[in-house]
Amino acid sequence: MSYTLAIIKPDAVSAGRAGKILAHLEEKGFTVRALRMMRLNRAQAEAFYAVHRERPFFDSLVSFMTSGPVIPMVLESEDAVARFREAIGATNPAEAAEGTVRKLFAESIERNAVHGSDSDENARREVGFFFSEAERLGL
Ligand code: ATP
Ligand code: MG
Repeated sequence: MSYTLAIIKPDAVSAGRAGKILAHLEEKGFTVRALRMMRLNRAQAEAFYAVHRERPFFDSLVSFMTSGPVIPMVLESEDAVARFREAIGATNPAEAAEGTVRKLFAESIERNAVHGSDSDENARREVGFFFSEAERLGL
């Protein structure tokens, strides 16, 4: 078993879709191993998305990610990073496959409902960003 870091983003939380997304992910075979709800401040969102700092959409992305509460969580499954990215679909919901989280629940390429780590190394970094050592020791 392995882990990935997922975030239910502000668009989905404010639209009241968090419960449906969680149920969908559990049905797909992911186990929730840690979960919290919080509102990111600007410095936190900029740090989380630091790799995108030079992209034209960076400021807008940071504004969006700080616009309301998010739900970061650690999900466990076999091959969790790859299987989760498959389950959420393409970044742009217009291009996401049928039955994926973004196809079902996302609004636009920016307001795309969920985040998923893109490698095991980034999953470790992102779990460390959101969860304390005490929480990680339970994993
Ligand atoms: P995530 O990292 O959130 O799981 P991703 O890996 O599919 O998504 P990235 O390329 O890492 O996509 O982009 C990070 C986030 O930035 C996207 O999820 C989306 O919210 C936003 N984003 C990406 N591309 C664009 C774009 N062209 N215009 C606006 N926002 C974008
Ligand atoms: Mg990404």
